Amino acid sequence: MGNLETSLAVIGHWIGGGERFDAQGRFAPVYNPATGEVARRVPLASRDDVDAAVSAAAAAFPAWAATPPLRRARVMFKFKELLEARAGDLARVITTEHGKVFSDALGEVQRGLEVVEFACGIPQLLKGEFTEQVGTGIDAYSTRQPLGVCVGITPFNFPAMVPMWMFPVALACGNTFVLKPSERDPSAATMIARMLLEAGLPEGAFNVVHGDKEAVDALLAHPKVAAISFVGSTPIARYIHEVGTLHGKRVQALGGAKNHMVVMPDADLDQVVDALIGAAYGSAGERCMAISVAVAVGAIAEPLIERLAERVPKIRMADGLDDGAEMGPLVTRAHMDKVRGYVAAGVTEGAKLVVDGRESRVAGRENGFFLGGCLFDGVRPEMSIYREEIFGPVLSVVREADFEGALALVNGHAFANGCALFTRDGDCAREFAQRVQVGMVGINVPIPVPLAFHSFGGWKSSLFGDHHMHGPEGVRFYTRYKAVTARWPTGIRAGAEFVMPTMK
Ligand code: NAD
Repeated sequence: MGNLETSLAVIGHWIGGGERFDAQGRFAPVYNPATGEVARRVPLASRDDVDAAVSAAAAAFPAWAATPPLRRARVMFKFKELLEARAGDLARVITTEHGKVFSDALGEVQRGLEVVEFACGIPQLLKGEFTEQVGTGIDAYSTRQPLGVCVGITPFNFPAMVPMWMFPVALACGNTFVLKPSERDPSAATMIARMLLEAGLPEGAFNVVHGDKEAVDALLAHPKVAAISFVGSTPIARYIHEVGTLHGKRVQALGGAKNHMVVMPDADLDQVVDALIGAAYGSAGERCMAISVAVAVGAIAEPLIERLAERVPKIRMADGLDDGAEMGPLVTRAHMDKVRGYVAAGVTEGAKLVVDGRESRVAGRENGFFLGGCLFDGVRPEMSIYREEIFGPVLSVVREADFEGALALVNGHAFANGCALFTRDGDCAREFAQRVQVGMVGINVPIPVPLAFHSFGGWKSSLFGDHHMHGPEGVRFYTRYKAVTARWPTGIRAGAEFVMPTMK
C-alpha cells in the first residue's frame, strides 16, 4: 500500500460538499479486475477524516430535518433524473472496478433507482396518526421524526445499489448521512455524492469517507452518529451490531448468505436450468442472493446434473465491457484465490467436481481475476463448501429423497437470506413458503429480491438487528416514533391528580 504509484488518479472522500484527501495519509489500490491492473488509488480515512465527515453531517442536520418533506422529496426527484441520465456512466465505472458485466451493472443502478422512486413518496410515508377525543377535550397524535446522522457501511458487490437501499430513505426522512463504501470499488459513491449536490441536497447532508477498519471503528464509536446500516459478510455484520449497539446506536446489519434452490421432481426442467445458470453464475456468484446450493429432490437429480454440466462450460466469460459477456472476473486476486481454495477443499472433502472452471482463460485478459463456472455434485451438509459462503461461480448440488428432507436441510443452515422452490404443485409451494425459516422466499423465482416498496433482509446469521432495509421497514429504521397528547383547557381547574389517568 505504501509504495503505490503516486501518479495514479485518486478518488477523494466527499466531505461537506467537496472532494478531499490527505496526500500524506494511507492509500489502497483499486483494480480493474478484468485486466488485473491497478487503475486508481483510494485514500483510507483516519479518525480525523471520519470526524470531519460526521461533523459536517451533524452541522447540516437541523436545517435538513426542518425542511418540509415535500421539498426533501423534490431533491429526490431531481436526483432520480440525474441518475437516469448518467446510469450508463455509473454502470461503466462499476464494471471497471467490480468486474460484473455492463448490462448487470445497469440493472444494479436501476434497482437502486427504484428506492429513490420510493423515497420520492416520503410525504405520504411520513404521515402520522391522529385520534380526536382520546379523553374529554384531549387529542392524541403520533409522528415519526428523523434520528440525526446516519451511517452506511457497504460491501463491494453492489457499489451503487446497496448504498441506495439506505441513503435515499434516510435523507428523505430528514436525516443526514455518512457513507463508508467498500474500498475495493469506491468510485460509484463519489459519483453519487456529486449528483446529490447537483440535485440540490445541502452541503454536508451526504458525505463519503473511504477506508477500512480504522474508519469503520471511528464511525461505530462517534458520539454524533445516531444509527448504522451495514451490509457485508456475517463476521463483520455481527461485529458492527455488537459494537454499534454497545455505543448506543440503532443498528441494522445484514450479513452473508447460502441460498438454496429446492427443485421438486415435478418442476419444469428447462425453467430450472435457466434459473440456476443465471442465479448461480450471474455476477460470477458475487451476489448475496445468488443461488449457491441446488437441492435436487428425488429422480430429478440425474437429468438436472446432466443439463447443468452441458450448460456451465458454455457461459461466456469475458471482460464485463465486451458485448455479449455473460460472466466477468472476480473482484480481486485475493478473492479469486479464496474461491479456488474452496473448489480444492470440495474435491478433498469428497464432493464430485462435475465441471472444473479453474483452467478457463479469457484471451487478451490473461492477468484478469477470472474463474470459470464450477459445479459440484454429491455435496453433503458437513462439507465446508456447503456450510460456508463461497461468493464465487460455484454451484453445489445436494441430493435429497423428499420434500421434508429438503426443507429440513434449508432450515438447518446458519444462513437464511434467500431461498427458492421450483415446483408445479401449489400445495407444496404454500407449505414451503409457510414453513421455511428464511427471510426472502421465491416460488419459481430464483432470486426473490423484494422491490423497493417492500423491504429486504434475511433471518438468522444473515441479519443482526430488528429492521430489514428500504420500503416500510426502512422508514421505521430511519425515524423514531413520537406520541403527543394535547389539550387546550379553558377554565378547568381540577387540581393536582395523584392517580393514573384512566378512561371511565
Ligand atoms: P465485507 O464484510 O468484507 O465488507 C463490508 C464492509 O465492511 C466494507 O465497507 C469493508 O470496508 C468493511 N470491513 C471489512 N472488514 C472490516 C473489519 N474487520 N472491521 C470493520 N469493517 C470492515 O464484505 P464484502 O466482501 O465487501 O462483501 C461481500 C459480503 O457481503 C458477502 O458476505 C455477501 O453475502 C454480503 N452481502 C450481503 C447482502 C445482504 O443483503 N445480506 C448484500 C450484499 C452483500
